[in-house]
Amino acid sequence: MTSKHLRAIAIASAICASPAAFSADTGNAALASHRWIHGAEDCSADQDPAIETYRFDADTYVLRQNKCVNYEAPFVFVLFGADTVLVLDTGATRKAERFPLYATVQGLVEERRSGQATSPTQVLVLHTHSHGDHKAADAQFRGKPDVTLIKPNASGLKRFLSSLNASGGLLDLGGRQLQILRTPGHQAESIVLYDSRTKWLLTGDTIYPGIISVLDWDDYQSSVEALVEFASTHEVSAVIGSHIEMSDTPGVPYERGTTYQPREASLVLPAEVLKQVSAGLAETHGKRREVVTDAVVIRSIPLPARMLIRFLKAVGAG
Ligand SMILES: [Zn+2]
Repeated sequence: MTSKHLRAIAIASAICASPAAFSADTGNAALASHRWIHGAEDCSADQDPAIETYRFDADTYVLRQNKCVNYEAPFVFVLFGADTVLVLDTGATRKAERFPLYATVQGLVEERRSGQATSPTQVLVLHTHSHGDHKAADAQFRGKPDVTLIKPNASGLKRFLSSLNASGGLLDLGGRQLQILRTPGHQAESIVLYDSRTKWLLTGDTIYPGIISVLDWDDYQSSVEALVEFASTHEVSAVIGSHIEMSDTPGVPYERGTTYQPREASLVLPAEVLKQVSAGLAETHGKRREVVTDAVVIRSIPLPARMLIRFLKAVGAG
């Protein structure tokens, strides 16, 4: 860690709210302190389920993939409205035998159906962006009845966003609306969702407690500034991303690829993290391509890798 990093942490800490920011909201406080299944020292002996299901409230579930199934251990969000259930991302593993995501979602739908006279009939699958660890189980949903799967690519996202024009750009699940914000930087197709019910900003890989790789630094900085602006005019109860890679020591992530995180940080970040990240990015003056704060580490993807990613995308292989 360099002195520049320490300075960034100091600035960030001054802006960052304490964990007590959640004290007024018991739901977010409980989620923030939840100890997730976090992999195993010996994954060959791991007995934990492939998916952990956390019930936030009767209409809101947070699912996490087991690190022993895939080290990325992404989170998947299942949000119920009166008409539609939204599945945000589909995880890092394709095969249902190893990662039964469709069956898990169906189980939640059936459970709800058995307990309520009305239940949503439609399933909408959307992605925070199109990296492989957020769309791998799409195949489990493809062709299933009452499922609409938004293609995880630029044209699929564009078509989907156009379809929302009639409803003022809002995704309406039936009594539960979500605003979709385009936030390129980590990836061109990155989006952030604002849930009117929980007041969560679901930030995917744009902001999460871990090492955030950035493909386009300028776009990323603009996106974070836009999120700060959004949060200044909307109540944001929590910022919730798609992975945990930080340890519970501020500013210190686990090594990439680890399958065991016994002391991982909270999934839930306070809204103030947006200002913290924005200040850290501004501090770089566009020169240094790394920001380290208590809550997140942001790194530019090295130029050769950026060029390769862009080339693969241009030829349709990325
Ligand atoms: Zn990603």
